[in-house]
Amino acid sequence: GPAPEAPDQAYAWLDSHDRRFGHYIDGAWTEPGTTFSSDNPATGESLAQITDGSAEDVDRAVAAARAALPGWSALSGYQRGKYLYAIARAVQKHARLFSVLESLDNGKPIRESRDIDIPLVARHFYHHAGWATHLERAFPDHVPYGVCGQIIPWNFPLLMLAWKIAPALAAGNVVLLKPAEFTSLTALLFAEICDRIGLPKGVVNIVTGQGDTGAAIVNHSGVDKIAFTGSTEVGKIIRAASAGTGKGLSLELGGKSPYLVFEDADIDSAIEGLVDAIWFNQGQVCCAGSRLLVQESIEEQFLTRLKRRMATLRVGDPLDKSVDIGALVAPVQVERIRDLMKRGVAEGAHVYEPDGDVPSNGCFLKPALVTNVSPASTLVAEEIFGPVLVAMSFRTPEEAVQLANNTRYGLAATVWSENINLALDIAPKLKAGVVWINGTNNFDAAVGFGGYKESGFGREGGREGMGAYLKPKWEKALKPAAAP
Ligand code: NAD
Repeated sequence: GPAPEAPDQAYAWLDSHDRRFGHYIDGAWTEPGTTFSSDNPATGESLAQITDGSAEDVDRAVAAARAALPGWSALSGYQRGKYLYAIARAVQKHARLFSVLESLDNGKPIRESRDIDIPLVARHFYHHAGWATHLERAFPDHVPYGVCGQIIPWNFPLLMLAWKIAPALAAGNVVLLKPAEFTSLTALLFAEICDRIGLPKGVVNIVTGQGDTGAAIVNHSGVDKIAFTGSTEVGKIIRAASAGTGKGLSLELGGKSPYLVFEDADIDSAIEGLVDAIWFNQGQVCCAGSRLLVQESIEEQFLTRLKRRMATLRVGDPLDKSVDIGALVAPVQVERIRDLMKRGVAEGAHVYEPDGDVPSNGCFLKPALVTNVSPASTLVAEEIFGPVLVAMSFRTPEEAVQLANNTRYGLAATVWSENINLALDIAPKLKAGVVWINGTNNFDAAVGFGGYKESGFGREGGREGMGAYLKPKWEKALKPAAAP
């Protein structure tokens, strides 16, 4: 096969920072403080030391953002759009470095970071540059929130940053963003990009750290809006913490999305779609199609063919261009998934994994198919956030809808059927923010993405996503009434 992607350029960039990073505040790097290690999950190697942000660091970043707000929000949308275009172009220019760094830090296959994550990042900034240039006409009588505190997860590190920063800046806000502790590196490289394109200082501030740093952002009185993507558990903590304050809030949380296959589906396509739905990014995807619901009449045939396809998936070195499944983000995630699987097996679940070994020194798991489960069982109810598919069958379309909606989540759903009337009848009955028909994982910067129920509220992308960073405000100068 082709030679693995060489990490030299990424190592050189890390070395240029002596592999120790402070925060990026007010257009400058702070001295590294108390640090923790960011590791390569495929090898266990330490990539860099990252500063664990304190409440004082958050305070400094909020002050820098606050000071930058008047200047940034006073620019015309057109002027802000030029900065967003410059960011998009710079991401494209450094796409290879971003991709390799993302795969090293997160463990995702280079094919995905190179062909999906980083291109979608550039696209998100281009799209929102467009919104900025149209802002005054598209959103009359609206003003930005002000200082936005943004907290993101580790599964799509740079893409989640783009989903947060692009609309916020386009709308005239300034930001303080905290990347997830496992994957801060591409956010730090992004800070350097902001610097290089001459973004005014204080408009984007990156503060690294763990949950406590996130909590300090949430609780800071100088933050006007909080945008969070991550677990439902932490989302609930943040919602409670911000209740009783005037802060804006949007939450993008977990999922357990159903993948419905009807008996008249194009089986080959449905299987390829399913591979993408559940094994993309090792299954660490909020909208992963993690619950297969297949019509009973084709269940046996479908599962047999699926297992055959699973046996061809290559698990291994994320920098190997022919690898399908890379490393999970960290040992703690591997342990969490193993524990869930043990609970499932104790409840009677059957687990199929293809033969063959995976590298033993990194965070690798084989793709798994779980059967013999009931709607209430652990592996059906809980978000696994790993390469594990659970399968159940249904007899009728009504039962399919009932099973699909039998979840506390509602992020995405997928329907496969050659009968478009059936598919169009089912789609509106599914309680999910996005429904894909005869396809899956289709992301578009122009479309609002987000959930129902415990998957959160607020949308990212398109008009809805812009609206999440703007407040309605009507200003009218009244002429004093003339004296009679
Ligand atoms: P997490 O909730 O543990 O962490 C997310 C972020 O929140 C991290 O930056 C973390 O440091 C921070 N954090 C942790 N505790 C905090 C606290 N008390 N206050 C403020 N910030 C805190 O989630 P994770 O394990 O990093 O990510 C996996 C989860 O994210 C999954 O449940 C997944 O479904 C969800 N997710 C959802 C979407 C979406 O768009 N809906 C996208 C990606 C991931």
